Amino acid sequence: MKFAWLALPLCLLLGCAVPQPSATVQPSATVGVAPHVEEAPAPTAAPTEVPTPAVTGLPTTRDTDQPYATEDRSDDVDGYQVHFIYALPSDGVDAFLDITGEIELSATAMNHWLHTQTGSRLRYDTYEGALDITFMRLPYTAEQISEVHSRINDLLEHWIKITDLAQENKLYVVHYDGFFVTPEGYCGLAPLPPRGIGQTAVLLLRAYNPTHDLTCPRNFTRSADFTGFFEVTILHEVLHAIGLVAECAPHADGGHVTDNSQDLMYFAYDGSYSPLFTHLDYGNDDYFDHGQADCPDLARSAFLDPLPAQAELPPRWQDSLRNLPPDPVGGMQ
Ligand SMILES: [Zn+2]
Repeated sequence: MKFAWLALPLCLLLGCAVPQPSATVQPSATVGVAPHVEEAPAPTAAPTEVPTPAVTGLPTTRDTDQPYATEDRSDDVDGYQVHFIYALPSDGVDAFLDITGEIELSATAMNHWLHTQTGSRLRYDTYEGALDITFMRLPYTAEQISEVHSRINDLLEHWIKITDLAQENKLYVVHYDGFFVTPEGYCGLAPLPPRGIGQTAVLLLRAYNPTHDLTCPRNFTRSADFTGFFEVTILHEVLHAIGLVAECAPHADGGHVTDNSQDLMYFAYDGSYSPLFTHLDYGNDDYFDHGQADCPDLARSAFLDPLPAQAELPPRWQDSLRNLPPDPVGGMQ
């Protein structure tokens, strides 16, 4: 059975871009040196407005004496940045991954690898020098959340927004630590603008695939020098959320590339893949440093540190900010 799992498309093992039914392709919004000033793209689908002020709070108590945050603490740096969240269902077992250092070490290792490949890092949201991780206890059971399948991104973004956590300069990476049954077999999900919109990528720490009787490997790296399964998965999803791999790329296929089986964004897994030998855009012709000004490029992302010249936001970023996805669990009641 393990071989069958290895033969699955990478999209299933790592994660997929969440398909969303909105069609018109928009060019990337472009920002200059001041990262908060950008030209808003015209919306192609009417986003649901985010209400203000926040309307709902979530439970905040935990069985620990260690400090933790249920809000976004003050930022060490300005600019577009990635904010990490550790989320649990109402009945989920708390593994304290935000407190014990697993998520921070994983994020550090991911950025270390990215730096070795690109010379840049993703700009992380930090507080007093440490990764600012928000703890979130969702108001639904793991079973309720599992039933929404790929709409878990909408669920998470809904609660991030209505609890007033969301900020316009942030992408959210959520480590969701609840049991999650996924017949499709993915371990991570992200929106892929411009087809989809959203600020939230999710890593499923306890996903179970009943089709192949397998779980997503719950393996965090143990060293900042080693990028393992979770780190590769999160980076893969973050790149989707940034708008990669765009349809204008020569080897693009549904947000993935087709030209090298060991590419971070490859669409199918050939069994020889290892995070130690992963390419970040093999041939530099699809999503990193390809030199095509009219096709989105990680090298120009406003989420990179240092901020690139002609920094770009993800396509339809303003739509993503304005959009409040309906709560898919609430909608099922
Ligand atoms: Zn993918």
